[in-house]
Formats: sequence, C-alpha cells, structure tokens
Amino acid sequence: MMMADRAAPFDDDKLHEECGCFGVWGHGDAAAVTALGLHALQHRGQEAAGIVSLNGGQFYSHRAVGLVDHDFSKRSVIDALPGQAAVGHVRYSTTGASEIRNVQPLYADYAFGGLAIAHNGNLTNAMGLKKRLVNEGSLFQSTSDTEVLVHLIARSHRQEVLDRLTDAVFQIEGAWSLVALFADALIGVRDPLGIRPLVLGRLGNGWVLASETVALDIMGAELVRDVAPGEIVIIDDDGPRSIHPFREQPQRFCVFEYVYFARPDSVLENRGVYEVRKRIGEELAKESPVGADLVVPVPDSGVPAAIGFAQASGIPFELGIIRNHYVGRTFIEPTDQIRHLGVKLKHNANRSMLAGKRVVLVDDSIVRGTTSTKIVEMVRAAGASEVHMRIASPPTTYSCFYGVDTPEREKLLAARHDVAEMAELIGVDSLAFLSIDGLYRATGEAGRNNRQPQFCDACFTGEYPTPLRDAVNRGEGRAEHATPATDSLVETVA
Ligand code: SF4
Repeated sequence: MMMADRAAPFDDDKLHEECGCFGVWGHGDAAAVTALGLHALQHRGQEAAGIVSLNGGQFYSHRAVGLVDHDFSKRSVIDALPGQAAVGHVRYSTTGASEIRNVQPLYADYAFGGLAIAHNGNLTNAMGLKKRLVNEGSLFQSTSDTEVLVHLIARSHRQEVLDRLTDAVFQIEGAWSLVALFADALIGVRDPLGIRPLVLGRLGNGWVLASETVALDIMGAELVRDVAPGEIVIIDDDGPRSIHPFREQPQRFCVFEYVYFARPDSVLENRGVYEVRKRIGEELAKESPVGADLVVPVPDSGVPAAIGFAQASGIPFELGIIRNHYVGRTFIEPTDQIRHLGVKLKHNANRSMLAGKRVVLVDDSIVRGTTSTKIVEMVRAAGASEVHMRIASPPTTYSCFYGVDTPEREKLLAARHDVAEMAELIGVDSLAFLSIDGLYRATGEAGRNNRQPQFCDACFTGEYPTPLRDAVNRGEGRAEHATPATDSLVETVA
C-alpha cells in the first residue's frame, strides 16, 4: 500500500489500518463465509473489498469499491463465486472506481495454475524490486506493492509452487500477512517479525485464516492459534501443515493494533484487545492523575481506555460525547467550510452531562490534532468548566511504513510541538500522553526492553524494525502497462 495523506471527508484524524485478509478452505459456501469474515474486518478497510473463489481448478473473482455489504450481501454476487475455497480482502486506500485495479485479492495466471493473493501490510522495498522487475520485462497491472510478489513468484526458477512463494517472500522487506489461494491449497504467510496479525481457525471440517479473531467469531469458527512470525501455513484437504523458512527472530507485533486498529473484541497474540485498552486507561490514570468530575471518552475508540481511567481514578465515567454512527466516509465531498462542520456530524456534546463539570477527555491518539481541537471547543461550548485531555498512547511522532495510512511526519502534531505547546494549541487545561513503558505494561510486559523492544512501536519511537529502502521515493516510478489477458479467471467488477 502507498503511504498517503488523504483528507477523507469528515476526516476523523486517525491513523487507519489499510487492510484486512480472510481465507477459507473446505467449506461448501466459501464465498458467503468469506463475505461474513470481511464484514467483521470492515474496520480494517472501508473503501474496497474483493473475493476470489476456487471451484474445480477454476477461479472466480469479484472486486468492488465500497463497503463489503454494498456488493457482497447480494446473493447474485455470492452465487457467481462458487467453490469450497476462497480468499477475500478489505482495503482502506483505494480512492475511486478508477483504482479498481488495486483492489485485492490480486489474481495471476501462471504456467502452474492460478493464484489469488490478499495482503495486509506494506513492503518497504517494493519500489526497488519493481524497478528491477520492470527492467527485466515484467508488466504491472496495478500500483499496489503486493503485485511485486506476484511477479517475484512468476520469475522464480523453483519448480514447486510453495518453493516459488518462499523464494518471493525472501526478497521482500517490511510487513506482510498474506493469504493466498492456489489451485490445491490455501496458504497463510506472516513476515519474520510478525508485524501485522494473522490467525488460524477451524470451521467445521474446514479451516480459515483471518486478520483478527472477530472474523472467526462471526461464523462460529474456533480460534486455533496465531500464525507465527515467519511461518508459512499450507492448508489443503489433509488439513494445515507449516514450514518456518526464516531465521527465528524476536517478534515485533504492531503495538498500535492494541491502541486503536484492532476491534476491541479481538484476541491477538493471546491478549484480549479490550483488556489491554482498559489497562492502558488504568496506567494513564496512575501516570497522569487529574482532579475532575467526569471521565468522558472520545467515542468510540477512547471508550475502553476511559473505562480503565475511571475505574483506576474513581472519577465517574459518563458518555459526555455522543457519536453518530451513520456518517459515512463518502457522505459528500466537503468544501472547507463544510469540512469545518464535519466533526459535529460525527460527534455531539451531551450538554446535560457536561455543563459546569471538570472533564477528563480520553482519546486513543493525536495525529494532526484537528479533531481534538474541535472536540475540546465543543465540550467547552457545552459548558464544561475545565477540560483535561489524556491520550491512551505516547505522542505519535513518526510515520508508519507498515501498512497504515499516515500523514507525512511534518503533519503529525507531536512531531512539531512538545506537550505544553500541544495543550495550548488544542485548548485544554492539561494534556498528558501515556508513556511508552506504560503502554508496554498495559500489554502485560514489565516495560519496554530498550535493547530489544517486544513490539514495533516505531510511530512513537522512530525505531523501525526493518530497513526502509523505498521510503524517500515512495509513490514514484510506478510505470503502468496493459493488462495481459488471463484464461482461467472469470471476473466481475462493480
Ligand atoms: Fe504499528 Fe506504529 Fe509500527 Fe506502524 S509504526 S506497525 S502503526 S507500531
């Protein structure tokens, strides 16, 4: 995925996870199951979705811009995706119908058969690899970094499909959780640091792979385990087997999954996300106490941390801000004037709770600071006598290059200002962020091991766990070529 600085309509000023993946093997209604899984993963990407199914050696694909429901709740669409295996993807970063070529799963026909691939993460050396591949004659159909993998698999000199895939993943860097569908197997792969999540589940006699456990819950599948960092799990009619081709390294799972990206009802790496978020609030209350009458979450993402803060501090929790859940990302393309009103469409102050009260607002993070400023204005306008803000993560001071939509560094408020300046800009009486050690403690660690951090926390510390070869030139040199015809894919595009 490409790093971008898109101002979505009524921008909520959050970092956004760019993708979610799902795959199923051995279920009679594979496409319908995949649609359900994608529906549960919708928070990981709202702008496009796709499913590729496999039936008797023939692949079927449907990809569409929009929410999963928009196309994949239609029986006609699901009926056109027959078979007992399927792979699906939800995506954040597509911006319009013209970008349908970037919607995943990507599909390719090889001499050995078809392959559909869904990717969560970002390859940090994709541009360099793409340049080499184009020089060698590869024709790219999309601007997605994931397509680099498709070509690396095609150019491998190895004979077996699995060897070709292994060959390809040895050449890529960055974050990748992949779910791939070949004619005879469903394959899940996680990068050697395990930056992005991927779980294995059991569904009746079949098997599923998913970015988060919530995608298993929706269909009653049982969680088997997280796919391990660097593991390749191969699922066929004999069930799953694994290979571990990478040198073992300490894991660097994305700690921001616990802060914000993952759904609170997911369990990732044996930690319940909701519990971690509540403990984050408890840590925050211990580290940065404040005298106040109410703890108010910025909904919805600030809710679990605000509950933890309220319980640890003894200050009552109240819903002083109400969120309108029906404001879509594509409501209208706003003018600057309308954009200014946007936050009020999404959040409204609950005046009867706030008037005359000293309020502690709890939010998960501050990115540009635009929404925080408007929320504080709104809470003051509703009559709060004091407004204090507590942030359930350390200051976000660096961009993410691992599959999260992040503004350039200079647009991150915390990259340009210290905490006192930020408090003044946002207009609060006091502002405090969780410490990095507090965040680690909330996950169950004793604190951050500075010599060997237990997570990726690069957006807080700038310590990126992989090389960032493409970072400077990202977005350049993406030559486009005609799409070659395929002969075993039946595709419908919305
Ligand atoms: Fe997660 Fe931040 Fe690391 Fe990106 S840089 S993977 S958001 S912890």
